[in-house]
Amino acid sequence: MDLLSISETKCRQCYRCVRECPTNALKIDHGKVKRIWSRCILCGICYQHCPHDAVSAQTGVKHVQELLESGEKVIVCLDPTFPAVLDKGSPGQLVTALKKLGFHEVWEAAVGGDPVAKAYNAWIHKDKEASWISSFCPSLVYYVEKFVPQLKDELVPIVSPMIACGMVAKHLHGAETKVIYVGPCISRIWERMSRYGKEYIDYVLIYHDLSNMLKAKGIEREEQEPSEFDGPPSDLGRILSISGGMSKVVGF
Ligand code: SF4
Ligand code: SF4
Repeated sequence: MDLLSISETKCRQCYRCVRECPTNALKIDHGKVKRIWSRCILCGICYQHCPHDAVSAQTGVKHVQELLESGEKVIVCLDPTFPAVLDKGSPGQLVTALKKLGFHEVWEAAVGGDPVAKAYNAWIHKDKEASWISSFCPSLVYYVEKFVPQLKDELVPIVSPMIACGMVAKHLHGAETKVIYVGPCISRIWERMSRYGKEYIDYVLIYHDLSNMLKAKGIEREEQEPSEFDGPPSDLGRILSISGGMSKVVGF
């Protein structure tokens, strides 16, 4: 499946994506841009920088719309970055807007950061002299696997907060409950296809998808009455997402 495709009709062959790609994963073949998957780390920089909207990400948006129409129990988990991006109205108004869209529960995905933070703390203090590479970011993991495989054993073997959030949600509500993760990174779409991703996260959306879904239904966030988030409260998970958060959590 092509998670990140380049439209030949939209592409204007400006080659900005080729210049911006950090791993030289894009090449020009008879004037057309082609991706070299063995070099791509799904960082999304080509998607962000294309001025002609020619790069598109294969998120789960169509499947999520079908799920919401079917009436199945669907929990949406918002990445801790959501206040910086979905900034129309308050977080509580966003919760109400998402319930109107059809989600049964709206969680802060930072819920998954709590058990992950505790697991990292325990892991790192087992051997303070060892060096480790955080495995939170799927693109960093792909980078290590594809370009510096000799460092693979230094990746911390603990799932990401996204997957941990899905684990908590399915543990509390049953495996049949659908769990949707919404965040800023297209690399999470790929992470969802990993061993634990498949089991605990049903689909991944990016913020752009969620804004479009609200817009299509005419739901204005800033006009809603605020509601509380569902799901367990989070604590350390929120700290993890800020700069230097991991160091604070593990006490360095
Ligand atoms: S940045 Fe967009 S328009 Fe320019 S070459 Fe790349 S895909 Fe085509
Ligand atoms: S996703 Fe990142 S690594 Fe892959 S082609 Fe685009 S810019 Fe390059």
